[in-house]
Amino acid sequence: MMVEAPARGQVVKRILIIEDERPLAEAVQYSLEKEGYEVDIALDGERGWEKFTGGSYDLILLDLMLPSIDGMEICRRVRSSGSTPVIMLTAKDSDVDKILGLEMGADDYVTKPFNMRELVARVRAVLRRAAGEGEAQAAKGKQLRAGDIVLDSERHEVKVGGRVVEMPLMEYRLLELFMRNPGKALGREYLLNKAWEGDFYGQTKTLDVHIRRLREKIEEDPANPRHIITVRGVGYRFEAAEAET
Ligand code: CA
Repeated sequence: MMVEAPARGQVVKRILIIEDERPLAEAVQYSLEKEGYEVDIALDGERGWEKFTGGSYDLILLDLMLPSIDGMEICRRVRSSGSTPVIMLTAKDSDVDKILGLEMGADDYVTKPFNMRELVARVRAVLRRAAGEGEAQAAKGKQLRAGDIVLDSERHEVKVGGRVVEMPLMEYRLLELFMRNPGKALGREYLLNKAWEGDFYGQTKTLDVHIRRLREKIEEDPANPRHIITVRGVGYRFEAAEAET
């Protein structure tokens, strides 16, 4: 049976703050927790990235200038691993073009020093927008198509070239993740977290096995995949149309 995600409405939203000024991070955490959010803090880029990949967050509040891995790099990685919204915390208005532009693609930003009430309002707005997009996608996304592959999430069925293909739940979930995010490089940790719903212990080898079996089922030539493309150092990218050469 299809395991549908529970309605997100009543679920407590989880926010990750990546900010190296501890007093600021804690003040923001306090304000957001008062609003009913669940909030984690990471004080440098590397720990922030670990927390992000190891947990499932609804929103990231990200400082631009960070030790170990800077905010710009984190933002890029978050963008390429899925659709978690990012609000940047920045000291200078002059960074804004870069932050909201293609280079980073953050959803919003606030300039330091900021008013807590304003920050909370931005957080609420970005989360509302993200939820709206999610629902719109779910409504139209019951049948996903890519070339001759059709995934029907209502029937919990995959057809390739009109023929029903049986697959274990993990492969089905992976394929659905891929088909909902065509053209995006999806990180290994992201895939594991989403498909296994956090119930895994860093067994990234398992992921490769599932990908191999999935390729055998959906690719014309599994040794030369056209749909599930390996992205070295990141994970995998799904191409909906057969990659043109
Ligand atoms: Ca900083």
